Order: sequence, then C-alpha cells, then structure tokens
Amino acid sequence: MDLKSGSPFWMLKNAQAEFHPPLTDDHRCDVLIVGAGITAALIARALVDAGMQVCLIDKRQVGWGSTAASTALLQYEIDVELQSLARTFGIDDAVLAYRACEQAVESLTRLTRPMRDVDSRPMQSLYFSSHWYHDRRVRREGKLRKEQGFALECLDNSELQQRFGLDAGVGLLSAVAAEVDPVQLARRLLKDATGKGVRVFERTCLKELSPTPRGVNVTLANGKRVRCKHVVMAAGYESQGFLSERVARNRSSYAFASDPMPDPGFLANCMVWESARPYLYARSTLDHRLIIGGEDDSIDIPLKRDASVGKKSETLKRKFNAWFPALTLDVAFSWAGTFAETKDGLPFFGPHQQYGPRVHFAMAYGGNGITYSAIGADIIRDTIQGKTHPCARLFSFERLRRK
Ligand SMILES: Cc1cc2nc3c(=O)[nH]c(=O)nc-3n(C[C@H](O)[C@H](O)[C@H](O)COP(=O)(O)OP(=O)(O)OC[C@H]3O[C@@H](n4cnc5c(N)ncnc54)[C@H](O)[C@@H]3O)c2cc1C
Repeated sequence: MDLKSGSPFWMLKNAQAEFHPPLTDDHRCDVLIVGAGITAALIARALVDAGMQVCLIDKRQVGWGSTAASTALLQYEIDVELQSLARTFGIDDAVLAYRACEQAVESLTRLTRPMRDVDSRPMQSLYFSSHWYHDRRVRREGKLRKEQGFALECLDNSELQQRFGLDAGVGLLSAVAAEVDPVQLARRLLKDATGKGVRVFERTCLKELSPTPRGVNVTLANGKRVRCKHVVMAAGYESQGFLSERVARNRSSYAFASDPMPDPGFLANCMVWESARPYLYARSTLDHRLIIGGEDDSIDIPLKRDASVGKKSETLKRKFNAWFPALTLDVAFSWAGTFAETKDGLPFFGPHQQYGPRVHFAMAYGGNGITYSAIGADIIRDTIQGKTHPCARLFSFERLRRK
C-alpha cells in the first residue's frame, strides 16, 4: 500500500535517519511488534517497561509509514463529538473514551517534556462553529462537556473576534492539547527502547501469522521465521489486510506547511479546528510555520491522490484565509496521506477472533490516531499481562458484534 503523496514536512525535516538492519535469521522473542511507527513505538515502550522481551519489524524504516504524514495535533476531542458518541454508546462509555483521551494527551505531554530532541509543546485547542446552523449543536456540546467535568471555556462571537480575530458564532476553548513532531517522537522512543534491549529490524516484512495454543509462528517475506508468545499488529492502515473482516474504510487527508512566518499570531499557542465534517484545522510548528490540514475525501487510489495534492492545498489555503485573513501564508510543502476511519470513530485494540488471544491488533484509526495509540499501548500491555484496562471492552472488536 502506498501511504503518502507529495512532500510530507516531517520526512524532509527529519531526512537523516539512523538505520536498523533487516532480520536475516530465524528469531525468538516474547513479543513481536509488527510496525515501527508511532503506535508501535509507544507500545514497545509500554511493554519493555513492563519487563517483556520485545522485537520490532518494519517493512519500511522507523516512522516512515503514515506517521511521517501526520499533522500530529494531540487532542482529547475526537472527530465524533461527545454528544454524538453518547447517542451511540451511552453517556458513561462516551465519557470513558473522552476521559481516556484527555489522560493520554496529558501523559504524552509529560513524556515529551524532558525530550530535548523531540519538538513538542502543550497548546490550547479551539473548536469553533463554522456555520450559523452549527451554533446550537456546538453550544450543546460545550454544555455537556462542562457538565461531565471537562475544563473548557465557551466563547461567543464577540470574545472570538476579540481574542482570535475569528467571526464565528460559538467556540470551545480547551487547555488540554499538545503538538509534536511524530517522526522524532517515534525515533526517540525506539532509541530509548533499544537501550533497554529491544531489537528493531527495518526492511523486514511480515507475510503470515500462524497462532498455536502456546505462541505464534510468524513467516517473513524473506522466508525467515519468528517464534514468539504474542504478536502485536501495529502495522497502521495495512493491518486491515490481515483481517478478513472489514473494520474501517480508507480515506485520504491533505495538508500543507507554510514557510516560517514572522508572527503566527494566536496559533503560536493554540490549535484550531472547525465544526464542519470533513474539518479544516491548523497548528503551528516551533519554527513558526503553520500546518493546515483537512479536505478529506474517499480517494483510496494513490495515483489519484498524488494528482490532487496541489489543488487540495490551494483549497485549504483559501479556506484558511477566509477564516483568518490577518494570517497570510505561502505553501512550502504539501502532502497527502491515507488514513482509516471506523464507523463509530473509536479505534480497535486487542485480539480478533480470526487469530485468537495471542495476536493483538493496534488499529489507532481516526483523526486522533496518536492519542489513541497512547491509550492502546496501555490496553495491550495490560491484556498481555492478564489484566483488564478500563477501555479494553469499548475499544475491542467485540463492539462490532453488539446489536
Ligand atoms: C494527513 C494526516 C494527518 C493526520 N493528523 C493527525 C493528527 O493531527 N493527530 C493525530 O493524532 N493523528 C493524525 N493522523 C493519524 C496518525 O498519523 C496515525 O494514527 C498514525 O500515524 C498511525 O501510526 P501507526 O504507527 O499506527 O501507523 P504507521 O506510521 O503507518 O506505521 C505502521 C508501520 O507498519 C509497517 N508495516 C505495514 N505492514 C507491514 C508488514 N506486513 N510487515 C512489516 N511492517 C509493516 C509500515 O511500514 C509502517 O511503518 C493523521 C494522519 C494523516 C494521514
């Protein structure tokens, strides 16, 4: 699968990479993680800190899958509003998911704070009503979140104009958010993990999984075999190819990074996204670029997506300028990436009936993929240790079987 088009900013920013060798012999380990993106890196950290002997394989290089295409806004607010999630799952499960995301953003912020080689920082997040007919819905969302104990400010038009130069009806301003360079974070986590004994093999492709009652026999594309007690499938959007059941649909998302600006205005401290779907969003980088993203479509054909990148970034720029006319910007790098969406907006972490209890899928699908990955790392660690994480049931494949 071709995961990216155009020039993803992080790939150019982090072009120099440390190489890991391919796996050219048969191998044994406790846990084999398939993938070396941000999800795999967070899982490797959780497992190794729990004392497990871990090995990773990736058919590309560390962080070079869709992690390199991510715009990496870390938010607790998922693509599906709390009120809508509550209609599907009931208020308790909806709050459980939102609360877990809030804690994940906080724990990612704590994790990255001391990492001098990882560009990251806490931010505010502003969700605004981008059509007058969304105003009531967004106001209701703010009220519900406040009632459920989430800290946020509900802003009206005059406050939005005054503080953000934004002519919108309603805004929800949250203090729990962050931004990160996802490639740097994946590399740093795996560097730390290799220091604790984790083995990383690049250009090593999984071909087949055969679970047995006591372990999993893994066949690689080069014919070598890995014998392990558990496999974690953190192969991003390509994990779906190992399941006969379709659990999500692939889409394409588009983004561009501007040239550095003298002053990114309020976006230096705050990310912003709108209430329409698909939504337009913006964040800044430490070197004062803006990254604008959105314009998602259902294209799943790489050549067609490649051809759309230029036009989509012009559309993103035009739409952004219509909302924020004071921030003029030029497109420096534009790109697109595959991402997958589940029907209900929640991810899948855990075993699937097709492979039994020793193969754990880590499908951090949705706009908040990185936040989900941080939760998934804990779910998978707990499951392997025979414990039950509070989100394990809600984020499991079991919810596909519920009527
Ligand atoms: C344009 C765009 C913007 C996004 N913005 C955000 C955002 O703002 N915030 C957010 O939280 N999320 C965002 N996401 C989603 C986020 O990027 C993803 O959730 C995240 O990158 C997924 O990481 P991953 O490690 O699961 O997948 P990947 O990074 O794709 O890693 C999976 C790895 O598995 C390897 N692999 C696949 N198959 C095999 C095999 N058979 N054998 C060996 N290795 C294999 C691949 O080579 C790859 O390196 C965005 C995504 C896109 C495309």
